[in-house]
Amino acid sequence: MSPVSFESKRAPFFKDVPDEKWNDWRWQMANRLNSVENFNKVLKLTPSEEKALSTPGLFRVDVTPYYVSLIDPDDADDPIRKQIIPTAGEVDVFTGMMEDSLAEDRHSPVPGLVHRYPDRVLMLVTTQCASYCRYCTRARIVGDPTQTFSRTDFDAQIEYLKNTPQVRDVLLSGGDPLTLAPKVLEELLSRLREIPHIEIIRIGSRVPVFMPMRVTQELTDMLEKFHPLWLNIHVNHPNEISQELADATDKLSRAGIPLGNQSVLLAGVNDCVHIQRDLVQKLVRIRVRPYYLYQCDLVEGAGHFRTPVSKGIEIIEGLRGHTSGYAVPTYCVDAPGGGGKIPVMPNYHISSSDHKIVLRNYEGYITTYEEPQDYKAHDPKTCSYCQHKRVEPGQSGVSGLLDGESMFIKPESFEELHNRGGAQHRLRADSDKWKPLGIGPEAGSGE
Ligand SMILES: *Cc1c(COP(=O)(O)O)cnc(C)c1O
Repeated sequence: MSPVSFESKRAPFFKDVPDEKWNDWRWQMANRLNSVENFNKVLKLTPSEEKALSTPGLFRVDVTPYYVSLIDPDDADDPIRKQIIPTAGEVDVFTGMMEDSLAEDRHSPVPGLVHRYPDRVLMLVTTQCASYCRYCTRARIVGDPTQTFSRTDFDAQIEYLKNTPQVRDVLLSGGDPLTLAPKVLEELLSRLREIPHIEIIRIGSRVPVFMPMRVTQELTDMLEKFHPLWLNIHVNHPNEISQELADATDKLSRAGIPLGNQSVLLAGVNDCVHIQRDLVQKLVRIRVRPYYLYQCDLVEGAGHFRTPVSKGIEIIEGLRGHTSGYAVPTYCVDAPGGGGKIPVMPNYHISSSDHKIVLRNYEGYITTYEEPQDYKAHDPKTCSYCQHKRVEPGQSGVSGLLDGESMFIKPESFEELHNRGGAQHRLRADSDKWKPLGIGPEAGSGE
């Protein structure tokens, strides 16, 4: 049991369900709500919701009785309701909208494996979830059983990982990995653990939020065998932090699984500094470390949830310094087109000179930090880490510029463009005059 207590709710419609059924995740999965008729038993649908629920081809709807019970039935703007009951706004198109806004499928060497960063991969293991978030970034595949991953896909994913030693971190996602049959998940984790270069495994799951009763002793006993294992949950609003969730995170923590949280910034749900402050403070009480706050993606169906990016900056301004550092997530825009997560935050560095920098704190207090005058620069020639560094060709980025791997990063076709269609001539003849000499460990040695 969790050392902290929160509210526990059950909608009046479910009050006669025996506890052993209510607390059985299989019952929760089998009794999910998905139609006008179902929802009208627990709350009064708005015309916009009814219209959406009757739209053919709508992104899948399914909500556990547990999660629907967290909704205040008298509040049409309830923040939980908006996350899982569709409204007419869902079918609106908007500028910049895409089906696969993060270009994940383009970055997949095999189906369901997104390899975007040098040392880690995202592995999609199912398209099924316990309930379906209306702003789902993977609505193109999620919820659709015909899109789910086959045995052959799993084999190809594992084969790719075996042959790609640079991958040291595998992030299981989907869909929701914790909706997999326990035996299937266990087999998957064992197969990953057999690959020696995979150091850590992470799971991204909203099951503890949609269906905390799934976190049984049996599940944590199984997960515990695959350490080091990390888990990120997905809580967007303080109303989702119930006694049941607190008990679930307590069990996971006791099994030695470090817990993080990823939220999505959603208009009308959590686009408020005060809601976010309450959320992150409650999260650390249930031993969940806020990890990321995401800007809502440019994905079909999510238009009415989008806020300006400046809303996220305002939220971080209201958290950093105002509350525990542990409670402050990194706010990120996941780059459209597939650039990965880009952190965005307020500016704390105001100005600088050759020996001083000017900083401001969260209160607006402006201070100076005097730089050292006698800094003995770190010497890569005598540093064993620098000598044995692993170079990731093509992905060292701006850090690679600083590290002396190269002096510039050029846009594609930069050379051709600047050739201006001219012919080869005496000043342009191939030579070393464009080779940088002044950077990196070999600097000045003339190669
Ligand atoms: C988010 C993400 C990861 C993990 O990123 P971290 O910043 O390490 O949490 C890895 N791969 C893909 C494709 C992702 O979207």
